[in-house]
Amino acid sequence: MQVEIRERSVIAEKLTPRLARVAELAYNFWWSWNRPARDLFKQLDRTLWTTTRHNPVRILREVPKERVLSLTRDPAFLRDFDAVLMELDRETRNGHLWYPQAYPNLCAHPIAYFSAEFGLHSSLPIYSGGLGVLSGDHTKEASDLGLPFVAVGFLYEQGYFRQRLDHSGWQEAIYPPLDPDEVALRPVTQEQDSCGAILVQVGDREICLKLWEVMVGRTRVYLIDAGVEANAPWDRQLTARLYGGDREMRIQQEILLGIGGVRVLRAMGIQPWVWHINEGHSAFMVLERVREYVAQGLTFDEARERVRASTVFTTHTPVPAGHDAFDFGLIDKYFHDFWPQLGLTREDFLELGSYSPGYGAAFNMTKLALQVSGQANGVSALHGEVSRRMWQSLWPDRKVEDVPIGHVTNGVHLSSWTGEAMHQLYRRYISPDWVRRQDDPLLWARVEEIPDGELWDAHVILKQKMFATIRERARQDWITRSTPPEQLLASGIFLDPNALVIGFSRRFATYKRANLIFQDLDRLMRLVHDPYRPVQVIFAGKAHPADDPGKLALQRLYNHARDPKFGGRSAFVEDYDMHVSRYLIQGVDVWLNTPRKPNEASGTSGMKAAFNGVLNLSILDGWWAEAYNGRNGWAIDAGVETDDWDEQDRTDAAALYRILEEQVVPLYYQRDRDYVPRDWVAMMREAIRTIGPQFSTRRMVKEYTERYYVPALQASLALEAQSQ
Ligand SMILES: *Cc1c(COP(=O)(O)O)cnc(C)c1O
Repeated sequence: MQVEIRERSVIAEKLTPRLARVAELAYNFWWSWNRPARDLFKQLDRTLWTTTRHNPVRILREVPKERVLSLTRDPAFLRDFDAVLMELDRETRNGHLWYPQAYPNLCAHPIAYFSAEFGLHSSLPIYSGGLGVLSGDHTKEASDLGLPFVAVGFLYEQGYFRQRLDHSGWQEAIYPPLDPDEVALRPVTQEQDSCGAILVQVGDREICLKLWEVMVGRTRVYLIDAGVEANAPWDRQLTARLYGGDREMRIQQEILLGIGGVRVLRAMGIQPWVWHINEGHSAFMVLERVREYVAQGLTFDEARERVRASTVFTTHTPVPAGHDAFDFGLIDKYFHDFWPQLGLTREDFLELGSYSPGYGAAFNMTKLALQVSGQANGVSALHGEVSRRMWQSLWPDRKVEDVPIGHVTNGVHLSSWTGEAMHQLYRRYISPDWVRRQDDPLLWARVEEIPDGELWDAHVILKQKMFATIRERARQDWITRSTPPEQLLASGIFLDPNALVIGFSRRFATYKRANLIFQDLDRLMRLVHDPYRPVQVIFAGKAHPADDPGKLALQRLYNHARDPKFGGRSAFVEDYDMHVSRYLIQGVDVWLNTPRKPNEASGTSGMKAAFNGVLNLSILDGWWAEAYNGRNGWAIDAGVETDDWDEQDRTDAAALYRILEEQVVPLYYQRDRDYVPRDWVAMMREAIRTIGPQFSTRRMVKEYTERYYVPALQASLALEAQSQ
């Protein structure tokens, strides 16, 4: 099989030979985390940069040919362009990176990473939230570190939904179809098979899979797409939406991802030595791999041992409903042909996933993954602990602490999430090379050298950019949707850039308690309307389209936000995605997180915020329980942990108001002669110094590599050698 590298003709015709490789840049998301490459596309057309929401493929399609011609004669542009290409070539082709240096003998042994969602860029809406953004960041970091990494996911034709709120604040889901010509996607051409694609048996049907390739630096991401002519119309819908449909749709999707994903790699001629299951959605992959070994003549137990040695599994949530499980009826329907191929009876097969957490038994994907993975982990220290307790029944003869689930705390891809103004400061005061050396803790001691005024100014620039973006969106909405005035009130146009801004944006899952800050309205109003020290709040986030309680919570919150009682000091920004998230995590003053402990497995948005000098104010859950040191932000800790949710909400809310009143607000408004909040800036510095290097994907992917990937690789090499 081959990837079609012929450029989409519209772009190819427009580019001059001198600038032909601009297309290659546009088709590699590497541009998105490399400043000089971003700057090139900005230079190409600043207006398009903004209106396309930073989408180089669309910029190239829409930029006038004359502009390209004039840049071809512009020596300054050509110089920048050549420098960017040299850097891209260096990054994508050289063995100077960390992994090839550390493991020169293991570079030819691919590591495969399966995930149902990837948050690579907002132009490719195949993610819903934290899990996807984490997969995207993991993939980018794997490229930066030079891992022989290949990723597998879905191309959802309608992506995850775009959010609109109607006049009553009720969330509407819009599914604009993705136009593959407008995104950095390339079709993989397939000639061998009769349907022109990869075949997967789903129940009694054979489904054809089409394949797309996305370049992320050195890393390739293969996206599965069932939207091909050869499939029945209902089968084409299997990859239409992320987390849409019912249980039956879900099991079919997971068969395509797990079993289809293995076939995809085989068809591409890729033989992975390590297989990483990122959340249970892709756990069926272990079955396909066992099947392959059994077909080669191994017994089920031998096959399982081989698969176990080479499999790594990461679980991502302590919320029971977050773990996929399927009724045995569905398993019968979709796997009755499959278990004989493994040499198993129905009972033995069901046992691989059978789990009954207090209610009826079902086939649980997390159990399946835990049974057949040599390495398993949660995503923060606390989540590791909770997961060991949660799954102890699978190891009845072990003590909780001996349950074989470890943890690797999540991180974020720093160069993707750092605002330009901060990036410049880091280059000047930390090191021109800080991105490459970011996990050197000595480096970050130099944060102390950034002058207070400059650090504050950089923050103010990012804050203004956020305000400009929010206002422009409000203006656009007003033009295109004739937003009524009372709705405009909630869109942020009255927010004061000089006053304290608290940001809260995340999925509207109930455990995240978006409404906690509204528990005591009078107390909140006193904070908001303080004439000298006002407090403002910006909200954003989507509820799952099938989650009515989540949508109700969102509606309540929205109606608060636009209530004239707030005098325009609170806002709801619609359609939270990676683009909106960038501006918010870089531009607010305080990042608020109020999950019901211990339900936040890790959380990552607060890490992004901290590295931009935005201070966290959060329940001591997930990553924050590890990061908080008393000086780098605030912990909402009422000292009470109870199963009575109302009681917990009341005490947590009271603790939140107290910190706001006694600490956050006074510190923010305590200014010197230059109007710089010195003590606040000291805290920003502490946050950057302690959180940046520790909660990065640099640290995270190295940890996965050293603790899981390399041992798994060596174990599978040893087994392979034995079997020769
Ligand atoms: C970082 C990010 C998340 C993760 O947020 P948490 O609430 O910390 O889990 C979710 N959605 C988007 C768009 C993000 O950028």
